[in-house]
Amino acid sequence: MIRTTIAGSLPKPAWLAEPEKLWAPWRVADENLFEGQSDAALAWIKCQEDAGITIVSDGEQFRKHFVHGFLERVEGIDWNKMTTMGIRNDRYDADVPTVVGEVKRMGSVHGASAKFCVEHTSNPYKFTLPGPMTICDTIANGFYDTRPDMAMAFAKLLNDEAKELEALGVSVIQFDEPAFNAFTQEAVEWGIDALDVALDGLKCTTAVHICYGYGIQQNIDWKETLGDEWRQYEEFFPALNRSIVNQVSLECADSHVPLSVMSLLPDKEMLVGAINVATEEIETPEKVAATLKAASKFVDPSRIIACTNCGMAPLPRHVAEGKLQALGAGAKLFEASISR
Ligand code: ZN
Repeated sequence: MIRTTIAGSLPKPAWLAEPEKLWAPWRVADENLFEGQSDAALAWIKCQEDAGITIVSDGEQFRKHFVHGFLERVEGIDWNKMTTMGIRNDRYDADVPTVVGEVKRMGSVHGASAKFCVEHTSNPYKFTLPGPMTICDTIANGFYDTRPDMAMAFAKLLNDEAKELEALGVSVIQFDEPAFNAFTQEAVEWGIDALDVALDGLKCTTAVHICYGYGIQQNIDWKETLGDEWRQYEEFFPALNRSIVNQVSLECADSHVPLSVMSLLPDKEMLVGAINVATEEIETPEKVAATLKAASKFVDPSRIIACTNCGMAPLPRHVAEGKLQALGAGAKLFEASISR
């Protein structure tokens, strides 16, 4: 059977946070926030199950920002000392907090939400965490000698968190590393090593999500500079194939990435992005199946997991629901086409 999953985020319901906006502030009072987030996660788990998504997730309903949601529970960071930094290799400027001491978890970061969700689905449950290199690209270093040193320190914290999530019954742990694409050389030099430290000793399935970013304007402008064929992945896929990670994502829907780059990852399962998250147009199941078929020229179907290109947080809720349905239905069509 062709497995299906999503890359990460889903839209927040309008009662929980302002829709169609990344990192929107919460609309629910602090004392009711966990309950509200849990209700939103339950709704999305049900939608995923109904759409035939086999590996479900909370759609990141419990966090505002996929990196800061983790960092908020880490000691050694000064949130009042904001530094303006060009991130993703100066693709855009952001005000980021500053590391001012040794980083330590204050305790479990995501345990309570993961436990709640695992208890409410019989499907395998996937949890997404920011990768160490991407964390280091979202925070200023005012303490460690080098950026790789800081990355290794975060990788150890992430590993502790991941092991706790695994013990709670999480089936898949995914690290999000969009920074690999912006720093292909550093990814080879230390980024993939840091990822392996974060994955060390995990027995559950592991994944890494790399991508060219959400469909926001800064990313759209950047993508226009990359030419017709996006070959950045070629620079670090051979090193990534040697990583201990089990699954690697690739945006294949309406993509400028030549699908042949998947040949560089012969030892990995592929999270094949068959849903374009940069458009509100809902794919037909036939289109999803055609994207999976195209990927299967380079990857045996047994190594394909149908997925979205990236997170769907900025989309209207009904569009994301439609895209989940299309993904589930398209994967079934593809499966029927190969079993014939
Ligand atoms: Zn992404």
